[in-house]
Amino acid sequence: MALAVTRLVLIGPPGAETAEVAGRLAGGLGLPLISMRDAVQSGMRAGSELRDDLRRFMGAEQVPPLELVAAIVLRRLGEPDVVGGFVWWTESPVLPVLRSLETLMIQMVELVLSDAEATRRLTGRRLCRGCGEVWHVESSPTLVEGVCDRCGSELFHREDDFPAAVAHQLSVYHKHSAPVLAVYRVAGLLISVDATRPTEEIANELTSRLARS
Ligand SMILES: [Zn+2]
Repeated sequence: MALAVTRLVLIGPPGAETAEVAGRLAGGLGLPLISMRDAVQSGMRAGSELRDDLRRFMGAEQVPPLELVAAIVLRRLGEPDVVGGFVWWTESPVLPVLRSLETLMIQMVELVLSDAEATRRLTGRRLCRGCGEVWHVESSPTLVEGVCDRCGSELFHREDDFPAAVAHQLSVYHKHSAPVLAVYRVAGLLISVDATRPTEEIANELTSRLARS
């Protein structure tokens, strides 16, 4: 399959399962899957000019300045394994950097999920203390409320999944993503896809849309 554009960046709100869609898409297209974590590892490698700067922020629980984040991303995108294309999925703090990458002819893919649906997905999540399995009070409930079907351990509600925390995450996402999406939309480099469906279906639709573009 000949793709016109193989430099893909996937973004989506919390709850949109962006990482999973990106993984499926990368697998289907035969492209390397990269993320910010992977880029940071590359920046920390011996011989990297960014190593000292990065070290200062590691473990300091501090967000590095945007210029450093941009340098990390550009360093990763210059490595040999991604020359033939890549699938990158990213989270909110990295989004402003993408505005300056528009000139690299990156195809932006937006996973669209309403705030109501993202909130429903996230606030209903329950994690197992024993095996780590993720359940959902509506879409994948356990047989006995609060008890894991797999291992019998107690389930808990993560603080990050409380309504106020989810509302905050969503507002951060919108604040960072809106200007980035605007840039790529104007440049004709934005594909928006309905993320309410199963991840396999989303990845399949994207694969066929990209093949046509
Ligand atoms: Zn369990």
